[in-house]
Amino acid sequence: MTVKDVPIGSKEVIVAAGPCAIESEEQLMTAAKAVKEYGGKLLRGGAFKPRTSPYAFQGLGIEGLKLLKKAGEAFGLVTVTEVVDQHDLDAVAEHADILQIGARNMQNYPLLIAVGKSKKPVVLKRGSSATIDEWLLAAEYILAQGNNNVILCERGVHPLDRNHTRYTLDLSSVPVVKTLSHLPVIVDPSHACGNWRYVSAMSKAAVAAGADGLIMEIHPCPSEALCDGAQALNLDLYAKLMGELRAIAVAVGRSLA
Ligand code: PEP
Ligand code: MN
Repeated sequence: MTVKDVPIGSKEVIVAAGPCAIESEEQLMTAAKAVKEYGGKLLRGGAFKPRTSPYAFQGLGIEGLKLLKKAGEAFGLVTVTEVVDQHDLDAVAEHADILQIGARNMQNYPLLIAVGKSKKPVVLKRGSSATIDEWLLAAEYILAQGNNNVILCERGVHPLDRNHTRYTLDLSSVPVVKTLSHLPVIVDPSHACGNWRYVSAMSKAAVAAGADGLIMEIHPCPSEALCDGAQALNLDLYAKLMGELRAIAVAVGRSLA
Protein backbone atom coordinates (compact mmCIF):
# COMPACT_ATOMS: atom_id res chain seq x y z
CA MET A 1 0.00 0.00 0.00
CA THR A 2 1.17 3.51 -0.68
CA VAL A 3 0.00 6.48 1.35
CA LYS A 4 0.80 9.69 -0.48
CA ASP A 5 4.24 8.65 -1.77
CA VAL A 6 5.15 6.43 1.19
CA PRO A 7 5.09 2.68 0.54
CA ILE A 8 4.01 0.68 3.59
CA GLY A 9 4.72 -3.04 3.66
CA SER A 10 7.50 -2.88 1.08
CA LYS A 11 11.21 -3.52 1.32
CA GLU A 12 11.58 -0.20 3.07
CA VAL A 13 11.00 -0.11 6.81
CA ILE A 14 9.00 3.00 7.71
CA VAL A 15 9.06 4.90 10.97
CA ALA A 16 6.19 6.90 12.41
CA ALA A 17 7.16 9.15 15.29
CA GLY A 18 5.72 12.04 17.21
CA PRO A 19 4.24 12.95 20.54
CA CYS A 20 1.63 10.88 22.31
CA ALA A 21 -0.62 13.93 22.38
CA ILE A 22 -0.49 17.10 20.35
CA GLU A 23 -0.02 19.82 22.96
CA SER A 24 0.86 22.99 21.07
CA GLU A 25 2.01 24.19 17.69
CA GLU A 26 5.56 24.65 18.93
CA GLN A 27 5.74 21.16 20.45
CA LEU A 28 4.37 19.48 17.34
CA MET A 29 6.43 21.49 14.85
CA THR A 30 9.64 20.84 16.79
CA ALA A 31 8.91 17.11 16.91
CA ALA A 32 7.87 16.98 13.25
CA LYS A 33 11.06 18.71 12.13
CA ALA A 34 13.12 16.03 13.92
CA VAL A 35 10.95 13.20 12.59
CA LYS A 36 11.66 14.37 9.06
CA GLU A 37 15.31 15.23 9.55
CA TYR A 38 16.30 11.77 10.77
CA GLY A 39 14.33 9.70 8.27
CA GLY A 40 10.84 9.27 9.73
CA LYS A 41 8.12 9.17 7.08
CA LEU A 42 5.04 9.45 9.24
CA LEU A 43 4.07 11.92 11.95
CA ARG A 44 1.97 10.60 14.80
CA GLY A 45 0.15 12.70 17.36
CA GLY A 46 -3.05 12.24 19.31
CA ALA A 47 -5.80 14.85 19.19
CA PHE A 48 -8.45 12.65 20.79
CA LYS A 49 -6.87 10.70 23.63
CA PRO A 50 -8.41 7.65 25.28
CA ARG A 51 -7.25 8.18 28.86
CA THR A 52 -7.68 5.85 31.78
CA SER A 53 -8.67 8.77 34.00
CA PRO A 54 -11.41 11.15 32.85
CA TYR A 55 -9.50 13.91 34.65
CA ALA A 56 -6.31 13.41 32.59
CA PHE A 57 -5.57 15.56 29.52
CA GLN A 58 -7.96 14.40 26.80
CA GLY A 59 -6.24 16.01 23.82
CA LEU A 60 -6.84 19.22 21.88
CA GLY A 61 -9.55 17.72 19.69
CA ILE A 62 -10.23 19.54 16.41
CA GLU A 63 -7.57 22.13 17.19
CA GLY A 64 -5.05 19.27 17.45
CA LEU A 65 -6.18 17.85 14.12
CA LYS A 66 -5.58 21.22 12.48
CA LEU A 67 -2.08 21.40 13.94
CA LEU A 68 -1.35 17.87 12.75
CA LYS A 69 -2.41 18.71 9.21
CA LYS A 70 -0.32 21.86 9.28
CA ALA A 71 2.77 20.05 10.54
CA GLY A 72 2.34 17.20 8.07
CA GLU A 73 2.14 19.66 5.19
CA ALA A 74 5.00 21.79 6.48
CA PHE A 75 7.42 18.85 6.62
CA GLY A 76 6.02 16.55 3.95
CA LEU A 77 5.08 13.84 6.43
CA VAL A 78 2.17 11.42 6.23
CA THR A 79 0.02 11.91 9.33
CA VAL A 80 -1.55 9.33 11.62
CA THR A 81 -3.90 9.99 14.53
CA GLU A 82 -6.37 8.03 16.59
CA VAL A 83 -10.10 8.09 16.08
CA VAL A 84 -11.70 7.21 19.39
CA ASP A 85 -15.33 7.85 18.56
CA GLN A 86 -17.40 7.44 15.42
CA HIS A 87 -18.72 10.98 15.89
CA ASP A 88 -15.25 12.37 15.22
CA LEU A 89 -14.52 10.15 12.22
CA ASP A 90 -15.35 12.67 9.50
CA ALA A 91 -13.20 15.34 11.12
CA VAL A 92 -10.28 12.97 11.68
CA ALA A 93 -10.54 11.59 8.13
CA GLU A 94 -10.58 15.10 6.74
CA HIS A 95 -7.42 16.20 8.56
CA ALA A 96 -5.23 13.07 8.74
CA ASP A 97 -3.82 10.66 6.15
CA ILE A 98 -4.07 7.51 8.29
CA LEU A 99 -6.60 6.66 10.99
CA GLN A 100 -5.50 4.83 14.11
CA ILE A 101 -7.73 2.46 16.01
CA GLY A 102 -6.38 2.20 19.54
CA ALA A 103 -5.89 -0.95 21.56
CA ARG A 104 -8.95 -0.12 23.64
CA ASN A 105 -11.13 0.04 20.54
CA MET A 106 -9.83 -3.02 18.69
CA GLN A 107 -13.12 -4.78 19.31
CA ASN A 108 -15.38 -1.76 18.83
CA TYR A 109 -17.03 -3.34 15.81
CA PRO A 110 -19.25 -0.39 14.80
CA LEU A 111 -16.12 1.81 14.78
CA LEU A 112 -14.21 -0.78 12.71
CA ILE A 113 -17.07 -0.90 10.19
CA ALA A 114 -17.15 2.90 10.05
CA VAL A 115 -13.42 3.21 9.35
CA GLY A 116 -13.81 0.43 6.80
CA LYS A 117 -16.46 2.45 5.01
CA SER A 118 -14.27 5.56 5.11
CA LYS A 119 -11.71 3.82 2.86
CA LYS A 120 -8.89 5.69 4.61
CA PRO A 121 -5.74 3.74 5.54
CA VAL A 122 -6.06 2.40 9.09
CA VAL A 123 -3.49 1.42 11.71
CA LEU A 124 -5.21 -1.26 13.78
CA LYS A 125 -3.60 -1.74 17.15
CA ARG A 126 -3.77 -5.08 18.87
CA GLY A 127 -5.97 -5.05 21.97
CA SER A 128 -3.94 -5.63 25.11
CA SER A 129 -5.84 -8.84 25.82
CA ALA A 130 -6.53 -9.87 22.24
CA THR A 131 -5.26 -13.07 20.72
CA ILE A 132 -3.68 -12.90 17.28
CA ASP A 133 -6.81 -14.46 15.78
CA GLU A 134 -9.06 -11.88 17.42
CA TRP A 135 -6.80 -9.13 16.09
CA LEU A 136 -6.89 -10.53 12.55
CA LEU A 137 -10.68 -10.88 12.73
CA ALA A 138 -10.92 -7.26 13.85
CA ALA A 139 -8.92 -6.40 10.70
CA GLU A 140 -11.45 -8.42 8.69
CA TYR A 141 -14.20 -6.06 9.86
CA ILE A 142 -12.37 -3.24 8.08
CA LEU A 143 -11.40 -5.31 5.04
CA ALA A 144 -14.96 -6.60 4.66
CA GLN A 145 -16.10 -3.03 3.98
CA GLY A 146 -13.85 -2.91 0.93
CA ASN A 147 -11.06 -1.04 2.69
CA ASN A 148 -7.85 -2.96 1.97
CA ASN A 149 -5.56 -0.40 3.53
CA VAL A 150 -5.10 -1.97 6.94
CA ILE A 151 -1.80 -1.83 8.82
CA LEU A 152 -1.59 -4.08 11.87
CA CYS A 153 0.22 -2.72 14.91
CA GLU A 154 1.59 -4.84 17.74
CA ARG A 155 1.75 -2.70 20.90
CA GLY A 156 2.15 -5.24 23.66
CA VAL A 157 -0.19 -7.47 25.57
CA HIS A 158 -1.29 -7.63 29.17
CA PRO A 159 1.83 -8.13 31.27
CA LEU A 160 2.70 -10.63 33.94
CA ASP A 161 4.71 -7.97 35.74
CA ARG A 162 3.89 -4.27 35.57
CA ASN A 163 6.78 -3.17 37.75
CA HIS A 164 9.21 -2.82 34.89
CA THR A 165 7.26 -2.62 31.64
CA ARG A 166 3.79 -1.34 30.93
CA TYR A 167 2.80 -4.26 28.68
CA THR A 168 4.73 -7.21 27.27
CA LEU A 169 5.83 -6.70 23.68
CA ASP A 170 4.78 -9.85 21.85
CA LEU A 171 7.30 -9.73 19.04
CA SER A 172 6.46 -13.26 18.02
CA SER A 173 3.23 -11.86 16.59
CA VAL A 174 5.27 -10.21 13.83
CA PRO A 175 6.43 -13.42 12.09
CA VAL A 176 3.13 -15.12 12.97
CA VAL A 177 1.08 -12.39 11.30
CA LYS A 178 3.47 -12.42 8.34
CA THR A 179 2.67 -16.11 7.95
CA LEU A 180 -1.09 -15.78 8.35
CA SER A 181 -1.80 -12.52 6.56
CA HIS A 182 -0.66 -10.32 3.69
CA LEU A 183 -1.16 -7.17 5.75
CA PRO A 184 1.78 -4.97 6.77
CA VAL A 185 2.64 -5.13 10.45
CA ILE A 186 4.30 -2.41 12.48
CA VAL A 187 5.40 -2.32 16.11
CA ASP A 188 4.80 0.27 18.82
CA PRO A 189 7.63 -0.18 21.35
CA SER A 190 6.59 2.91 23.33
CA HIS A 191 3.27 1.71 24.72
CA ALA A 192 4.64 -1.80 25.10
CA CYS A 193 7.57 -0.72 27.28
CA GLY A 194 6.11 2.34 28.96
CA ASN A 195 9.69 3.43 29.69
CA TRP A 196 11.94 5.28 27.24
CA ARG A 197 14.97 3.29 28.40
CA TYR A 198 13.74 0.14 26.69
CA VAL A 199 12.32 1.65 23.53
CA SER A 200 15.52 1.58 21.46
CA ALA A 201 16.29 -2.08 22.21
CA MET A 202 12.78 -3.21 21.36
CA SER A 203 12.66 -1.06 18.21
CA LYS A 204 15.79 -2.75 16.94
CA ALA A 205 14.41 -6.16 17.86
CA ALA A 206 11.19 -5.38 15.98
CA VAL A 207 13.03 -4.49 12.78
CA ALA A 208 15.18 -7.59 13.13
CA ALA A 209 11.99 -9.67 13.57
CA GLY A 210 10.66 -8.45 10.23
CA ALA A 211 8.35 -5.60 11.16
CA ASP A 212 7.41 -3.35 8.25
CA GLY A 213 7.73 -0.31 10.44
CA LEU A 214 7.60 1.25 13.86
CA ILE A 215 5.37 3.81 15.52
CA MET A 216 7.03 5.49 18.46
CA GLU A 217 6.53 8.38 20.81
CA ILE A 218 9.05 11.19 20.84
CA HIS A 219 8.83 14.58 22.56
CA PRO A 220 11.02 17.72 22.52
CA CYS A 221 10.90 17.70 26.33
CA PRO A 222 9.58 14.40 27.70
CA SER A 223 9.58 15.58 31.32
CA GLU A 224 6.99 18.20 30.39
CA ALA A 225 4.76 15.94 28.29
CA LEU A 226 1.06 16.03 29.13
CA CYS A 227 0.71 12.37 28.26
CA ASP A 228 3.05 9.35 28.31
CA GLY A 229 6.23 11.36 28.94
CA ALA A 230 7.90 8.40 30.67
CA GLN A 231 7.98 6.43 27.44
CA ALA A 232 8.87 9.24 25.04
CA LEU A 233 12.31 9.40 23.49
CA ASN A 234 13.84 12.84 23.41
CA LEU A 235 14.88 14.07 19.99
CA ASP A 236 18.56 13.17 20.44
CA LEU A 237 17.74 9.58 21.37
CA TYR A 238 15.36 9.36 18.42
CA ALA A 239 18.12 10.57 16.09
CA LYS A 240 20.58 8.03 17.48
CA LEU A 241 18.06 5.21 17.24
CA MET A 242 17.28 5.98 13.60
CA GLY A 243 20.93 5.53 12.72
CA GLU A 244 21.04 2.16 14.48
CA LEU A 245 17.79 1.01 12.88
CA ARG A 246 19.17 1.75 9.43
CA ALA A 247 21.99 -0.74 9.98
CA ILE A 248 19.59 -3.41 11.28
CA ALA A 249 17.24 -2.89 8.35
CA VAL A 250 20.12 -3.45 5.92
CA ALA A 251 21.24 -6.54 7.85
CA VAL A 252 17.81 -8.15 7.32
CA GLY A 253 17.60 -7.24 3.64
CA ARG A 254 15.49 -4.12 4.06
CA SER A 255 16.18 -0.41 3.89
CA LEU A 256 15.32 2.62 5.97
CA ALA A 257 15.27 6.20 4.68
C1 PEP B 1 -1.44 5.87 21.46
O1 PEP B 1 -0.93 5.45 20.39
O2 PEP B 1 -1.22 7.01 21.90
C2 PEP B 1 -2.25 4.94 22.26
C3 PEP B 1 -3.17 5.37 23.12
O3 PEP B 1 -1.93 3.65 22.06
P1 PEP B 1 -2.68 2.29 22.49
O4 PEP B 1 -4.05 2.35 21.87
O5 PEP B 1 -1.81 1.23 21.90
O6 PEP B 1 -2.72 2.27 23.98
MN1 MN C 1 0.66 7.36 24.21
